[in-house]
Amino acid sequence: MPFSHLKLNENIIKAIDDIGYAAPTPIQEKAIPIILSGEDVIAAAQTGTGKTASFVLPLLQRLDDGNAKRAKHIRALILTPTRELAEQVHSNVVAYAKYTNISTLAVYGGVASEPQKEALIEGVDILVATPGRLLDLAFQRCVHFSAVEVLVLDEADRMLDMGFSDEINKVLDRLPTLRQTLLFSATISSNIHSLAELA
Ligand code: AMP
Repeated sequence: MPFSHLKLNENIIKAIDDIGYAAPTPIQEKAIPIILSGEDVIAAAQTGTGKTASFVLPLLQRLDDGNAKRAKHIRALILTPTRELAEQVHSNVVAYAKYTNISTLAVYGGVASEPQKEALIEGVDILVATPGRLLDLAFQRCVHFSAVEVLVLDEADRMLDMGFSDEINKVLDRLPTLRQTLLFSATISSNIHSLAELA
């Protein structure tokens, strides 16, 4: 099946053509139509399966169609366990969003927070974040969650293994209840089921 059958808009298809993907991977073929329809998703997916594009491509389409961003507000939040993954996911988002007007940012610990705070002032459409730094920024009122339409928990099992459960719960408490939630995990354990129920 070609990408053009997935009902993605031409800005997104053009970016995929530039990158050179010939066809969707199995997880992309399955997840993209469900995410576009607005339903929540829990998916078991290892790194290397194309899972990042499976949530980023429909996310871009949903945000490209929707409301404009507001100061210090974000419209989609992608939580990742590590700085490295946040950077990697963010670089994919930038490549896929090349022909859209969607703004993106990655925030994580271990680096100065001032540039991150400045980048948040005008608001951002898609924020990729590690849980600890995100909460720091939220406590300092540098980022607001009331406009979040979509939450992605990427590598959710790794986040729990790394002890981020409390931080994730604190973030969940601050998000609007009316939103789409997408949970990706290499393994689907009972802890992941519990998290999915909360999310
Ligand atoms: P991920 O599982 O998201 O970490 O992606 C693994 C690798 O697959 C990345 O280098 C992506 O650029 C690449 N990739 C994602 N989707 C496709 C596709 N449809 N065709 C070929 N490569 C892809």
